This record gives sequence, C-alpha cells and structure tokens, in this order.
Amino acid sequence: MNPTAGDVELNTRIPKRIGRLDELAYNLWWSWHNQARQLFRSLDFRLWRVTGHNPVKLLREVSPDVLRAAAGDPDFLALYDSVMAAFDDDMTTSATWLGSTNPGLVKDVMAYFSMEFAIHSSLPMYAGGLGVLAGDICKEAGELGLPMVAVGFMYPQGYFQQRVAPDGWQNEIYRQLNFSEAPISRVLSAKGDVAIAKVEVGDVTLEIGVWLVRVGRTKLYLLDTNLDENPVPYRQLSARLYVADRELRIQQEVVLGIGGVRALRALGINPALWHANEGHTAFMMLERIREELVKGLSFSDAVEKVRAATIFTTHTPVLAGHDMFPVSSVKRYLNTCCQALGISWKEFFELGQDNPGSDVLNMTALAMKLSGQRCAVSKLHGKVTQRMWHTLWPDLPEEKVPIGSVTNGIHVPTWISPEMYRLYARYLGADWIKKHDDPKLWERVMDIPDEELWRYRRQLDRKLAGTLREHVRKRWVQEGMSPKQMLVGGMFLDPDVLTIAFARRFSEYKRATLIFTDTERLKRIITNRERPVQFIFAGKSHPADFPSKILLQRVYNLAQDDGFQGRIAFVEDYDMHMARDLIAGVDVWLNAPRRLQEASGTSGMKACLNGALHMSVLDGWWYEGYNGKNGWAIGSEQVPSDSQEEDRADAETLYRLLEDEVVPLYYTRDRNGIPRGWIAMVKESIRTAAPRFSARRMLKEYATKCIAPEPARWQTRS
Ligand SMILES: *Cc1c(COP(=O)(O)O)cnc(C)c1O
Repeated sequence: MNPTAGDVELNTRIPKRIGRLDELAYNLWWSWHNQARQLFRSLDFRLWRVTGHNPVKLLREVSPDVLRAAAGDPDFLALYDSVMAAFDDDMTTSATWLGSTNPGLVKDVMAYFSMEFAIHSSLPMYAGGLGVLAGDICKEAGELGLPMVAVGFMYPQGYFQQRVAPDGWQNEIYRQLNFSEAPISRVLSAKGDVAIAKVEVGDVTLEIGVWLVRVGRTKLYLLDTNLDENPVPYRQLSARLYVADRELRIQQEVVLGIGGVRALRALGINPALWHANEGHTAFMMLERIREELVKGLSFSDAVEKVRAATIFTTHTPVLAGHDMFPVSSVKRYLNTCCQALGISWKEFFELGQDNPGSDVLNMTALAMKLSGQRCAVSKLHGKVTQRMWHTLWPDLPEEKVPIGSVTNGIHVPTWISPEMYRLYARYLGADWIKKHDDPKLWERVMDIPDEELWRYRRQLDRKLAGTLREHVRKRWVQEGMSPKQMLVGGMFLDPDVLTIAFARRFSEYKRATLIFTDTERLKRIITNRERPVQFIFAGKSHPADFPSKILLQRVYNLAQDDGFQGRIAFVEDYDMHMARDLIAGVDVWLNAPRRLQEASGTSGMKACLNGALHMSVLDGWWYEGYNGKNGWAIGSEQVPSDSQEEDRADAETLYRLLEDEVVPLYYTRDRNGIPRGWIAMVKESIRTAAPRFSARRMLKEYATKCIAPEPARWQTRS
C-alpha cells in the first residue's frame, strides 16, 4: 500500500504527552467507545457540545491552556493512556474472529462499494438506512478482523438539512462541509499529486482525488471530482448525494464504479473480493472485466472471473429504488467503457436488461448478472427478491432463483446508549460488548431487577425530553420559530407519558399517516386523562419526492391540531445524532410499511437493543424477529390484494392494539409504580433481538455463507 496514503497532518499545538489525541480524532473508532468519547468530552465539555461532538473541530478550537492543563492532569492522563492502549490493541491485535476461524482469509482484502456511508454526524454523507448499514459494516468488519476497504463518494454538501416551514412544507438547506473540520484526510499519489486516477465520463476524462476516513481498522476511501484539473461543471459532480437529475446520477455512478476500481489500483490495493452495496455501484464490475480483457482473457472468461469474486446485496423491493438509465445517457457516458469491453451496444444493454425487450439499463439487473453471490437483506425480502428477479432466470422455478439472504444487523457499540451500556455491564458482565452476539449472554437480562431496568428506562425518557427541548430552543434562538412550531418541536412532551416514535425517511409505502386514519379515535387515545399517549415523528423526504413531502406536511399540520393537546411532535432534521436519542428515549418504536415493501428496516433493532418495544407490520426483519411475546405485530402475514383494504385493516388493528394492549400494559403498575408486564416484555425483546440483529451476527453470516467459499472458487478459476 502507498506509504504516503492519508498520513494525518499532526496538530502541533498539542503537548507531546497527549500528542496522539489528533490521531484518535481522525479515527472514528473513538465514536463507538465510551471512554474515548469521555476523553474528548472531558477536555472541554462546552466546546464538545458546541462542535456537535466533533473532536477534529474541538482540537482546532480548544485553547492551548486547556491542552497544557490536560497534559498535566493525572486523571486526564490516566484516561488518555487507557484509551490509547485500547485503541492500539484494537488496531493491531491478530486475535480476531476471522484470525481464529479462517486464518487463510486474513490477508484477502475485500472491497465494499457504496453510494453512501453513515459513520458519524460530522460526515453528513448519508440519506438513511442504506448508509447507516454501510457505516455499521465498516465498523464491525474491522472488529472481526475482516480486511475491508470501503469506497464511496466525498460529497462536500452531502445530504440536506431539513427545515419545515410553518405550513408544513419541507425546505432543504445544503451546507458546505468544512473539510478542515471533518475527520478526513487527503490521500496523495506516490508522486505527491492530489489526482489519483482518471475516469472517462462520456467524452471528458476526469481526474479523481481521494479522501481517507479511518473507521477503526477499515479504511474508507471517498472519491472527489472537485479538482482544479477538471472542467468546471464536473467539479460539482460529487457535490451532493442522490441528485434527482438522472444525467448527473449516471455520471456519479460511472465515477464511483469505474473510478473507484482505478483509485484502489492506484493505491496499490488489489482486493480478492468485491462487495457491491446496492445497484448504484455496479459499474465497478464492468471495469474489472475490462482489466481482465487487458490481461488477455476472453470476454466470457473475464465475466466468469469477475463474477466469482463479487458479492452483491440488494436493498429494496420498491421499484423506484432501483436505478435505471435510458439508452441515450448510457451511450453518452459509457461509450469508452463499451468500446473497451469490445462488445456491441446490444450486448452491453443485455448485461443490464431486467426484462426481454426492456430498453433501459437496470443497475440491479447488471449487478445480479455480474455477481456470483446475490443477497437480500432479510429472509422475507429474499423470497420477494427471488420473485422480483425471476425474469433473469426464467428457466428456474422461483424458489431456485439464485438469490440468498443475510438479515441486516446494527453495530451494537454505536447504537447502545451509555446508560444501557452501564446497566448491561452490571448484569451481563463488564466485557459484555465483546460477546454481544452470543444469545446465551443475553439470557442474563432476565436477572436485571425490574426496578432497576425501569429506573434506567425512565432516565432515558427524561434525557430525550431535555434533548428535544434543547433542539427547539437552539432553533428558536438561531432562526426564530412561531409558538406553533415550538409546540410541534416537542416543547410539551412529558417524559411520564407513554411515548411512541415514528421516525424514518418519508416514503409513501412506510405509511406515516396510517395512525391518522381516524383522527377522532386517535384523539381519544392520545388525550385520555389517566392514560395519555404521545407521538414523536421525524424523518426527511427526498427533495424530489413530491408525494412524500405532502405526507410530511399532513403529519406536521395534524400535529398542530389543538385537539391533540400538544402531544404530537415532529422533530426536524432526523440524523444519526437525533436517532441515537430517539431510539433509546421512547417506549414504543412504530413501523407500518405496506407488506413486502420494507426490505429489512434497522431502526427498530436499535430501539429494541435499548429497551424500547417494537410494534410493526410483519415485514422486513420483524417477520423473523417477532415471537409473540417480544413486542407487537400489526395484523397477520397475509398480504391483502388491495392496498386500500390493507390500510383500513391495519389502521383498525393498530388502534385496537394501542387501546387494548399497549396502553394498559404500560400503565398497569404495581404498588411501587413498576409496570411488571411491560418490563417482562422489554426483557424478552432485548434477549431475543440484541444478539441476533447485530452487525456482528450479520457479518459472520456473510463471511461464512459468501466470503469463505469465494476465494477458493476464485483460485480454482484463475
Ligand atoms: C437507522 C437509521 C435509519 C434506518 O431506519 P429504518 O428502520 O430502515 O427506516 C435511517 N436514518 C437514520 C438516521 C438512522 O439512524
């Protein structure tokens, strides 16, 4: 590997004794280690909050006096030494899971390509679940010893910040990321150049720069076209995530797919395995075929070789989630690629054809055809995906369509709240986090005294109410807000009231407004004098998704209805930071997708890990996660033939569940005020969901099902 790659520019203001703080700030490892967070927090708590928990910025702005004092403070030094020792151990140990189960694989680098990565809120380069999953995979891969490099896009403006106008309309604010305050560093070529690789996008050849994000042991390389060498319009190519403009989108995907492979080669990285996260990244397979042709392989042998070293994961059954490009733009931007492959346009389009006769290039079809392993993200989604792509294997019966599944999981150290971490440390063992995917460990949740679990849950409720008020206060100070907006922001939320959250990307199939089907009945539930209920909504609409913006507006306007007495909130600008508070601080996490449309969903897993209860349609992960005692299922698994009928029936079930089960269970208390039945369900939920829906279980399953068999096959062919 290139020795100059990404060496962090050292901050000379930091005293030598604590000189590695800078190195720590540039490795997001700190973000999922309590002690490391504590280290930065204790350096300057005020600045820690002001910078939005961004240690790079903190170290730029902290006063030299504070640094000097810290370097002489025995408590700080003890913490510093302990954190750095843990960091070094994690970064270098060979005693990893892969090392002990599959030592032959520890040197086989695996490349992971994704359009978005959610690592930490200081890098706002994600839209939602797909990015969070990619980020969680980067974090967990390093911990398991999977030698992974990840490739994505550097978006200086990232995804937007959400502002909701008083009339409920979502406005988007794009802020320019200040690179010097972000945990990224420039990667230079061996000659010291910023431009690392070239890629042809139509008739222009673009230079690509690369930024490095260190995520524990995983290196995440972000491609950047904003270089002086490039023509002005193309410098903006990488500005934003998920542009609606199809022309821009295909250009971005050419840069990510083809440019990404070339950038890795330029850095001397030659992966044995390539993982494509969603169809956006599929052009990387074409570039690798081209490389094999250059080495002298025939086209069909090159395809076979690439396939044998490629895993593809598809993430959505919703048609709009699959990129399709018209013939004209494909011909415009991939002419060089097609020529280099030595095939006709007809053959080229056949590679990405979803149906016979279809005249678009479907990125998912392309990825399906060029990968040897294809995965869906939950068991049910696996079946749906087999049906959806049956046309690619028309001769096979549907259940034989070669698409498997690995159910998603969450990175537990990232999504556990510090409070619940401490509680588990007491009852599961101080080193519980190291064994968190072991179901036996979680049996001990049953040993936690009800009183204590309840006390921790109450603490989290209070913390959330405080956080939301502070969120509103800041907005009011900085930008002004009407009293109604402040009310909707959650000023009147009461931590003693049963709280239900609906927080996810606004998208029609997720049915954010299902709960409002009968507003009078909902009012009776919410405003019950003895047993009130409150709702918190959060989530962004894609800027170009008009129907979903109208849904969001409807929720926002309903929340202002006096009849709900201030018990419905809409929290602006849902991001990882807000998600961490919400998943831990609410009592029920509600998910209401139309059946078969939620591939997995992961936020409910985060809620369960922290002791909230999940209530969902039996779709995505909940189809396999629900056991009858660990939360609630809205309706049955039967898929109604008509979506209006589905909405009507599910709304009825939802109200009935709230009235007859959820509310009574929450408010039925013993003489000490403890809801015994509720706590029993919480324990069952934690016990069953925490180990199984972890990223650790997911990656071990990937490694066992997909990765371990692959290099062997690859070697027999090469
Ligand atoms: C976890 C997470 C998601 C994914 O949520 P779903 O359950 O898949 O809807 C989206 N956005 C953020 C900020 C998250 O943390």
